[in-house]
Amino acid sequence: MTAAAVSGALRSNGDRLWQSLIEMAEIGATSEGGSHRLALTNEDNAALELFERWARAERCHVSRDRLGNCFAERPGLDPARPAVLVGSHLDTQPGGGRFDGPLGTLAALEVVRTLNEHEIRTIAPVIAVSWTNEEGARFPLPCTGSGVFAGVVGYEQAMSQRAYDGPTFAAELERLGRAGVNDMGEREFAAYFELHIEQGPILESTGNVIGVVARGQGLRGIAVKLTGREAHTGTTPMESRRDALVGAAEVVAAVRRLAMTRKGALGTVSRLEVSPGSRAVIPGRAELLVDIRHPDLEVLDELETEVRHEIETIAAAAELEVEIETFLRIEPVVFNRSCVSVIEDVARRLGCSAMEVVSGAGHDAFYLATRMPAAMVFIACRDGISHSPLEYSEPEHVRAGCDVLLHAVLEKAGVSEDSR
Ligand SMILES: [Zn+2]
Repeated sequence: MTAAAVSGALRSNGDRLWQSLIEMAEIGATSEGGSHRLALTNEDNAALELFERWARAERCHVSRDRLGNCFAERPGLDPARPAVLVGSHLDTQPGGGRFDGPLGTLAALEVVRTLNEHEIRTIAPVIAVSWTNEEGARFPLPCTGSGVFAGVVGYEQAMSQRAYDGPTFAAELERLGRAGVNDMGEREFAAYFELHIEQGPILESTGNVIGVVARGQGLRGIAVKLTGREAHTGTTPMESRRDALVGAAEVVAAVRRLAMTRKGALGTVSRLEVSPGSRAVIPGRAELLVDIRHPDLEVLDELETEVRHEIETIAAAAELEVEIETFLRIEPVVFNRSCVSVIEDVARRLGCSAMEVVSGAGHDAFYLATRMPAAMVFIACRDGISHSPLEYSEPEHVRAGCDVLLHAVLEKAGVSEDSR
């Protein structure tokens, strides 16, 4: 190893990374100061193309797989050594921020840029990756790209999911010419690291810059369809109504109540569509999306069972037909101890204030962790806000996060004696 790498003197270029974040945020920029780049839209694709252009300028081998996941590979001295994967996503929530996703993807690129600039040769290849549809905002399956890559989400299920604005995932991949032919199916990887803003207030409120993510909570996405009977609001007596929205309102309250009975549980009804939506018609149909989360699998399963049971009870009492489908399961994750320790050690060596945290949000790293050793680095973000144009992390925190990422990658990829 070089003296620089060993001593920890090597640093990423924080200004360059910040500049890239600002430039990336221009794509789909909103008047509120955020970015709007839903998965597999023209904006999302333009973001990926910019990432690829930058990666090619760094002499990376750039390829895509059949999901449109993009890999920018910097060769190692030993091509047979399992590569180190590092990255995140470029899509955003509707009217989202400038950091959730792009930070991790562009920090991965900054790692490559730093290694090139300092002519550091790693033993293992280093691959900067951008995953398709992490947010699950336009298409219902979050982390689609990483989920299929890891073998947890089925390819057919991914391709057939339909965007809320109409087209299927497959049709949008086709329209954009987004898919590639690189098949990483059989390839082995030494580690996956992902840098992300915390999206919560704990680091900021405790005065820490770096979150060493040891675990992540699991989640269930449940789709509920309630069907009653449309009828005239002026002529149908209250007692003979089958009002789907009244049932839906009880479901909203029940999800909240059940989540609050368990420590650490979270329950949300995040979407409600009511039809026909005419003033003089009793709503005949209501469709809800329920999101429940807990770090402990047993508690999560229990909560799911209870929520489903309660929805059935509510529907029966209100004489509504009900369909309940758990369409999304992300299991709680315990990140690889060796990867977590590397991040911890590196943060200490770099003199960053750090603490161990549990990720409340789901991330690509959760799926990756089922296939390879993985861990995440969080940085503090202002007021814990994300999925909003107000999302913000201080430039020095962005820089610190990238340095931790850089040195974690070096630890796992190994550095050649010949690097100068
Ligand atoms: Zn994200």
